[in-house]
Amino acid sequence: MTDATASFDPATASAAYRSALQVIGAVEPRVAEAIGAELADQRASLKLIASENYASPAVLLTMGNWFSDKYAEGTVGHRFYAGCQNVDTVEALAAEHARELFGAPYAYVQPHSGIDANLVAFWAVLAQRVELPALEKAGATHVNDLTAEDWTTLRRALGDQRMLGMSLDAGGHLTHGFRPNISGKMFEQSSYGTDPKTGLLDYALVRERAKEFRPLILMAGYSAYPRRVDFAAMREIADEVGATLVVDMAHFAGLVAGKVLTGDFDPVPHAHVVTTTTHKSLRGPRGGMVLAQPEFADAVDRGCPMVLGGPLPHVMAAKAVALAEARQPAFAGYARAVADNAQSLAEGLTSRGATLVTGGTDNHIVLIDVTSFGLTGRQAESALLDAGIVTNRNSVPADPNGAWYTSGVRIGTPALTTRGFGAAEFDRTAELIVDVLSGTTPTATQDGGSSRARYAMADGLAGRTRAAAAELLDAHPLYPGLDLA
Ligand SMILES: *Cc1c(COP(=O)(O)O)cnc(C)c1O
Repeated sequence: MTDATASFDPATASAAYRSALQVIGAVEPRVAEAIGAELADQRASLKLIASENYASPAVLLTMGNWFSDKYAEGTVGHRFYAGCQNVDTVEALAAEHARELFGAPYAYVQPHSGIDANLVAFWAVLAQRVELPALEKAGATHVNDLTAEDWTTLRRALGDQRMLGMSLDAGGHLTHGFRPNISGKMFEQSSYGTDPKTGLLDYALVRERAKEFRPLILMAGYSAYPRRVDFAAMREIADEVGATLVVDMAHFAGLVAGKVLTGDFDPVPHAHVVTTTTHKSLRGPRGGMVLAQPEFADAVDRGCPMVLGGPLPHVMAAKAVALAEARQPAFAGYARAVADNAQSLAEGLTSRGATLVTGGTDNHIVLIDVTSFGLTGRQAESALLDAGIVTNRNSVPADPNGAWYTSGVRIGTPALTTRGFGAAEFDRTAELIVDVLSGTTPTATQDGGSSRARYAMADGLAGRTRAAAAELLDAHPLYPGLDLA
């Protein structure tokens, strides 16, 4: 049984939600209606967005309560507010589950999202590796004790650091030092890409780049790379150049938790600091988390109020519930199925003529290069959506269509695997995707070229595909038995 969203009593959960919606609807009925409509929409969509999932009713219900009313700045047992004993209980539980699940010496469960977790990690590395030595040199214990001159020197040093991360078109994330994100303004950034022939990470090239660039932080992790990363090799490179290895496992944390990614491919034993979201393949509430080696623990603990707003105790409570779920044997079965299903999807696509970046997958992501269908990513994404298949467009390495139109479509298996899809359903999904892409053509422009946004679909294709998708979805209902009416 991989479908943890089915492991609840439907009558009890239905009664809980009906009552909640009545209470909400008495104040603002349009919100209660929108909540109901959202469930209907999620039930009716073939969700292949690689970063999304469905949390269990237990996780979702944990977020709707009075923990939301509590201020709890500080850490467990050391709060700046009175009366935090119950927040302490849930934060300590979430952290303990996280440490046990990932085999990490230390866990910080306050970050509100993956981006926030990265900010906490970056400031912790700066604090540990730049600020602490500066304080020691000045004979001070706190920044407030520095002279004006030493403070100016420290601020300049903090702004003079480097980060090396995976390039965006190879699948890296905006928060890994790219200009539109604050990380790109904090750090001088350089990036490593993938081998143009194979699409795979080339560790010799990463090493070469690291030796030239000498970063303070070597970033690893991705949101659109369909392969495993050898974190033991990344740590070796970091050690060779004196860098701190930060791994952002936002996308694949569920595969680490479920022991699909182990040994050299498990970031936790190799990285100095690991950041993650809790709502993607990990299937928890929307939020973030930082795992760290003990030397970075104190600096990470200062995340709030260094860069984070007050902790969200209701979400930390939900993290504790989700992490408890992830420690159950069924979650390893789920994670295995996510990876196996990605194989079925990839094989279903390639056997029908689609081109995949790197030729396949060994995680939960499949990246289709849609140029062989004569389409841009934008056209493919829109045509698939018209046909009831929800994906997102994504750059491919050296993308000829740029970051807006793109040439790829990213698809992932975590959400539909939660619904109980297996090999046969993902093969059928691959068939539907190829049918849609083959039956879609770009609209001609007046100068005889082809539009990068507009397209036409073969007659009846969208409707036929919608019906086929609905058949798959009906056989694997989301939150079976949950009835709001
Ligand atoms: C999704 C993602 C994030 C951002 O997470 P949010 O919770 O949306 O802030 C950060 N890093 C990577 C690699 C991601 O995939």
